[in-house]
Amino acid sequence: MGLQLYNTLTRQKEHFKPLHPPYVGMYVCGPTVYGDPHLGHARAAVTFDVLFRYLQYLGYRVRYVRNITDVGHLEGDADEGEDKILKKARLEKVEPIEIAQRYTALYHKAMDALGVLRPSIEPTATGHIAQQIAMIQRILERGYAYEVNGSVYLDVEAYRKAYPYGILSGRSVEELIAGSRDLEGQSEKRNPWDFALWKRAEPSHLMQWDSPWGRGYPGWHIECSAMSIHYLGVPFDIHGGGLDLIFPHHEAEITQAQACYGEEACHQARYWVHNNLVTIEGQKMSKSLGNFITVEEIFTGTHPQLSRGYPPMALRFLILQAHYRSTLDFSESALLAAYRGYLRLMTAYRRLMEVRPHVYSSFPVKAWREKVFAALDDDLNTAAALALFFEQTEDILKLRRQELFLTQEDLDSLQKTWKEVLLDILGLQPDAHVKWQQWERAIQLLLNLRREARSNKNYALADLLRDELDRIGVKVLDFPDETLWEMHP
Ligand SMILES: [Zn+2]
Repeated sequence: MGLQLYNTLTRQKEHFKPLHPPYVGMYVCGPTVYGDPHLGHARAAVTFDVLFRYLQYLGYRVRYVRNITDVGHLEGDADEGEDKILKKARLEKVEPIEIAQRYTALYHKAMDALGVLRPSIEPTATGHIAQQIAMIQRILERGYAYEVNGSVYLDVEAYRKAYPYGILSGRSVEELIAGSRDLEGQSEKRNPWDFALWKRAEPSHLMQWDSPWGRGYPGWHIECSAMSIHYLGVPFDIHGGGLDLIFPHHEAEITQAQACYGEEACHQARYWVHNNLVTIEGQKMSKSLGNFITVEEIFTGTHPQLSRGYPPMALRFLILQAHYRSTLDFSESALLAAYRGYLRLMTAYRRLMEVRPHVYSSFPVKAWREKVFAALDDDLNTAAALALFFEQTEDILKLRRQELFLTQEDLDSLQKTWKEVLLDILGLQPDAHVKWQQWERAIQLLLNLRREARSNKNYALADLLRDELDRIGVKVLDFPDETLWEMHP
């Protein structure tokens, strides 16, 4: 079988075959660092974190590059409006680099909390101006760009005479013509659908660099082409990002790569992988609708639509419970259900580690393990994989209670699958929300006191302890021979 990924470029699932095994090069568009990390950031980061972890689990040596956009991303996502970072810096009366570094740090903090591994390389756009200028120069030399008044634009008309344009998004130039607005300041373009590779900067512009065309700054799209190709070569294996980046950003990247390197660039990357977006109770998430939720607001419960805070693993679990190509609809009830599901699996995990082996097995383990990996291989279907774990939680309680049995070999295999998939590949942390060992000892202590009270026929105290434990999220399960416990939200 092996891993299959849905390739946006070919619109089908394809077997994943790296260009230079065992090496895999993966580039994912990182954040534009001008605001707090939000649900959209979390979903993209967790999606590609799972892909990064799974590729490594499969034995590949992965170089994962995820950039920081700290210049050139304009408000309109195209060539219009103010630079997002400059605007924030102007509003807050600080240097652009202060904005970039503050929000880079907040992004790291939020993603670390979510258990997202850091990429192998995290290049900044401002740190790679030379590579961007070199790429633009080569595109100019090959005749697919033109310079006007110190700005350089990609010449879409010249490009499409040599290469098909719109191949990733499926947009035709006719659609682009219909959708293009000829805004003021864009009149220097030959065609409104040409896009900026380099923009001239006025002397007052706070971020500018020397270039062969005078002082200026790069366009957003060229940054990602230049940084990905610099670290991964061209073509490389996987280019990822959110669905909203397909056009214009990723279409522009492919255009630039082929304008620069010709046919050999081969669409810049072999597999273009896109995660779907987050909606909030069925609506698009946006600042103007007031339903914009940051990751920090979920952790602290400070958003007006939330009644309480949730641990990072509840959010990670919510993201994993949807297939990455489906929309993820966020609501507090969905988050609470995810938290409940996370605790249920972590309780089962803890119990499974306490199971003792037997001389025979009550049920087969190998077939189940194969189903779990088949789900992951099927375009990273984390939702289907988690469903298979849920199916086992009842049996694990029975294993722990010695009502079902596994041989040492089967038990080892089952424990290994739970650990490898839930912890190593899906990145769930069983002890992320509490210090488990301290917590367990404290609960055991209370349960011992309760047993003591019951043996002294002090049932009022025993019941009080049970109810108080329930209030802090610990459910007590009495069996004739012993007492177990589990957590609820
Ligand atoms: Zn990008």
